[in-house]
This record gives sequence, C-alpha cells and structure tokens, in this order.
Amino acid sequence: MLSPDSFDSILLAPCGIYCGACSGYLRPKNKCPGCRIDSETKPTYCKSCRIANCELLAKTESGFCYDCEKLPCQRLKQLDKRYRTKYNTGLIRNLMIIKEKGLDTFLKLERKKRTCVNCGSIISIHHDNCTACSP
Ligand code: SF4
Ligand code: SF4
Ligand SMILES: [Zn+2]
Repeated sequence: MLSPDSFDSILLAPCGIYCGACSGYLRPKNKCPGCRIDSETKPTYCKSCRIANCELLAKTESGFCYDCEKLPCQRLKQLDKRYRTKYNTGLIRNLMIIKEKGLDTFLKLERKKRTCVNCGSIISIHHDNCTACSP
C-alpha cells in the first residue's frame, strides 16, 4: 500500500494531474514514474504527451501550464473536460489552486481528497472508490 505521506511536488504534472494518484503510477507492475521523471516504463501516450512536450511550457518559469499566456489552450481544455467528465477532477481548477495557493497547499488538499478514510490508501483519480478496501 502506498502511503499518502508520499505526496510529492515532483509528481505534479504540468497540466494539473497529480501523477501520484494516477492508476498508472499506483499499479504494481509496469509502473509509470510520473510525468516529470523519465523511464522506460512510462506509457507511450505520456512520453508523447502534447502538453508535457509543449514548446511554450518549456518557456515557463514554473513548469506548469498556469504560467502560460495561452492558458487554457485547446489541448488543455480537452484534457480538462475529459477529466472533469470522467473522473470528477478539474485540471484547470487544480492549476489555479497551485498558482494562487501554492504547491504545498495543493498537495495537502489533494492528500486529503485522495486518502481513503477507511484504510488510508491512496484512491486513484481513475477510480470512484478505494481499490485497496472496496470490492
Ligand atoms: S500515466 Fe501519465 S498521468 Fe499517469 S503517472 Fe504517468 S505521466 Fe502521470
Ligand atoms: S497551456 Fe500553454 S504550456 Fe500548457 S499545453 Fe497549452 S500552450 Fe502549452
Ligand atoms: Zn481503502
């Protein structure tokens, strides 16, 4: 079981996804290390992500899309819509919290939101319930 104490800013993707609560990161085999860490096991769709590889992102000081003059660009809007609709997670909203309240506050909020009150495991963004203790 991954401890929620492991919540770390290196696992915050430029688009506002918290990779530490991604099912790709949480799975035991072929684990993705997170958007900001290079690895052989990173899924191709994340390696070739148009947001992570965006040339305007490379010019930002923070390394987050909130720092970009084009925010919200079409690709971020599409991803944000998919995450809001399918996973009840607003990526642009996440980015605004990081921008306005800082990384530490965002991580504290995210830890609270993603920690199972029943067993203490991290609940994946991509699942409605805790896979460690729900049937
Ligand atoms: S699969 Fe993509 S979103 Fe998930 S941890 Fe890896 S880089 Fe992050
Ligand atoms: S918001 Fe800016 S930095 Fe982020 S993907 Fe769009 S154009 Fe690139
Ligand atoms: Zn649980």
